[in-house]
Amino acid sequence: MLQITNLSKTYPNGVQALKNISLEISNGMFGLLGPNGAGKSSLMRTIATLQDADSGSITFGEIDVLKQKEELRKVLGYLPQEFGVYPKVSAEEMLNYIARLKGISNDKERKELVKALLEQVNLYQHRTKYLGGYSGGMKQRFGIAQALIGNPKLIIVDEPTAGLDPAERLRFNNLLSEIGENIVIILSTHIVDDVNELCNDMAIIANGQVVQKGNPETLAVSLHNKIWTKRVKKTEVADYQAHNKVILAKLSGGAVLLYVMSDINPGNGFAAHSATLEDIYFANIN
Ligand code: ADP
Repeated sequence: MLQITNLSKTYPNGVQALKNISLEISNGMFGLLGPNGAGKSSLMRTIATLQDADSGSITFGEIDVLKQKEELRKVLGYLPQEFGVYPKVSAEEMLNYIARLKGISNDKERKELVKALLEQVNLYQHRTKYLGGYSGGMKQRFGIAQALIGNPKLIIVDEPTAGLDPAERLRFNNLLSEIGENIVIILSTHIVDDVNELCNDMAIIANGQVVQKGNPETLAVSLHNKIWTKRVKKTEVADYQAHNKVILAKLSGGAVLLYVMSDINPGNGFAAHSATLEDIYFANIN
């Protein structure tokens, strides 16, 4: 289990990116959902031992992550947000190289591992192509292959589907869902559907703070009978916002679909709406 306790970080420019974050993360896929600038990458980089916190602690099983960095790195697979590749190296060569760096010195064992990984992420037929010629989705799948070398117990993927087209995103998420339940996988994303599709435990982070945590469905149920929708004209939106708690104003066929949070039916043509994780998200980040 990964245990994060009272973690805080202020950058030298004065931005307080993490404010007293506490989270308990068990085996399986954990979603860390939040808007851009919420502090997700700061948290991911800290867990991945790439930057220090000002205060607080992180433990992974017996490992004190902030102190025993080398120990954590041995069990970590990390796909960073900005994943650069060497453009004139093939996927096969690169995986072979990383596997060697990670200490897999037996040639036969390494060759078999690289082949298995390329097959797992569906890149075997593209194994000799230069990485520079890979599409966004292929690069991300390659990123997962390199993160899986060395049988990690903790995998961190930071905003992996940002910039992927819908088909690439689906393929990538399918790959993630197959990695396995017996390790901790943290998926950081601003895409609500990624969390909905993949995670049974999650937290929403906004302005450096955890604002919600739990099971996505249970969280959605907590808003049962509290979200109401109505289609209005664009020109009416400001007036509704002044008199209701509008959590989301969605463009819909030239008009605007308003989502209002209220314990009772606001009347005036509003209809009950069956709450989703998206409603939880927008109710908490504003
Ligand atoms: P997210 O991953 O959720 O988009 P980040 O952790 O990247 O959020 O950023 C959180 C806040 O910290 C933002 O206001 C960002 O501008 C700021 N920030 C991130 N990295 C640095 C840095 N190295 N130096 C200064 N400010 C930073």
